[in-house]
Amino acid sequence: TSPVHPFDLLAVDGLLTDEEREIRGTVRALADRELRPHVAGWFEKGEIPARELARTLGRVGVLGMHLEGYGCAGTNAVAYGLACLELEAVDSGLRSLVSVQGSLAMYAIWKYGSEEQKQRWLPKMAAGEYIGCFGLTEPDAGSDPGAMRTNAKRDGSDWILNGTKMWITNGSVADVAVVWARTEDGVRGFLVPAGTPGFSAPEIKMKLSLRASVTSELVLEDVRLPADAMLPEARGLSGPLGCLNEARFGIVFGALGAARDCLETAVSYARDRTVFARSLASYQLTQQKLADMAVELGKGMLLALHLGRLKDAGALTAEQISVGKLNNVREAIAIARECRTILGANGITLEYPVLRHANNLESVLTYEGTSEVHSLVIGKALTGEQAFR
Ligand code: FAD
Repeated sequence: TSPVHPFDLLAVDGLLTDEEREIRGTVRALADRELRPHVAGWFEKGEIPARELARTLGRVGVLGMHLEGYGCAGTNAVAYGLACLELEAVDSGLRSLVSVQGSLAMYAIWKYGSEEQKQRWLPKMAAGEYIGCFGLTEPDAGSDPGAMRTNAKRDGSDWILNGTKMWITNGSVADVAVVWARTEDGVRGFLVPAGTPGFSAPEIKMKLSLRASVTSELVLEDVRLPADAMLPEARGLSGPLGCLNEARFGIVFGALGAARDCLETAVSYARDRTVFARSLASYQLTQQKLADMAVELGKGMLLALHLGRLKDAGALTAEQISVGKLNNVREAIAIARECRTILGANGITLEYPVLRHANNLESVLTYEGTSEVHSLVIGKALTGEQAFR
């Protein structure tokens, strides 16, 4: 019998296909070689070499990897989830770059775009030559995107866009922004190339979370776009919400990567650290903390894999994604904070990843539907009563 892997107590690995394990191995190797050695520095400075990173990630094929055609790898959903997990084991900011590029910006074009829009943008986005962002949230409309004010009005055959988007990942470094705006015809999506007159994307600074990720405001002042800048196939809020479900799925796996990295760090630290003349790992209180965390990590992996298999079978529902996002992010942040206690004072520095992960997970808890909103989705499924408003 094979030995039990301490970070895979339930032998979830054995439920993966060879191809899934191979893709995970490729992403993990890239992470160890090119990302992990630099990430604390990027976080500390609050700066990432986004362009270079996008090309590196494009080279290994993770950008839009679960999409078919247009230079995308066309993997299954589980492989995509595992890639998210390995990237988030480095930093949630790097996984955010990949989620926004592949599951929000590219997916919106892939799912709702014209053939011409797909040809123009997708191959270069898959290669990491172009970066995309996805602008839905506004200063006064987050959980309730129906309250958005950004609007698009016709001027002959052109569109004129006005409004402000807030908290937009990749915004300042994006070559193309997918912007959702109110029109006479309901909410529609528009492709806004960087450099369009009237469009700017100032970066949001002074963040304490996701510092290794670019977060921006998008300002649209009488931005004139041609008729063919609109995504023809997205009508109403179901357009952007469809994209969010894709990205949320990646987070169900991704958050567990951050949790695993914290747990690995805490176990190794506890074994090395001597307190009261014995190894910290030899105390029952420490072992109880570690055991509880390993149990949650294992359960989270089973949940993620189950949702991945449902997605690959075309059977995954929005409520099920809410269960996964709510549980796995909530448990991941609890694990990160508990691991921090095991590291004592060392836990508060960037020498170790635990508080960086915990701080990042504060954003992950809030974006892609806050944990409260996911609870309400599940509550509605249980009771038939919608409690959003
Ligand atoms: P609010 O909606 O104002 O919520 C505040 C609090 O009220 C939360 O606790 C919320 O759960 C709670 N609440 C809301 N409604 C209810 C209710 N009905 N009942 C009970 N409680 C409720 N957006 C994008 O469009 N694109 C991006 O790329 C993007 N990237 C982001 C990156 C980062 C680092 C962060 C932090 C955010 C990002 N977001 C992005 C925005 C994110 O999706 C929003 O922050 C999120 O939807 C929550 O909106 P809000 O911050 O306006 O909070």
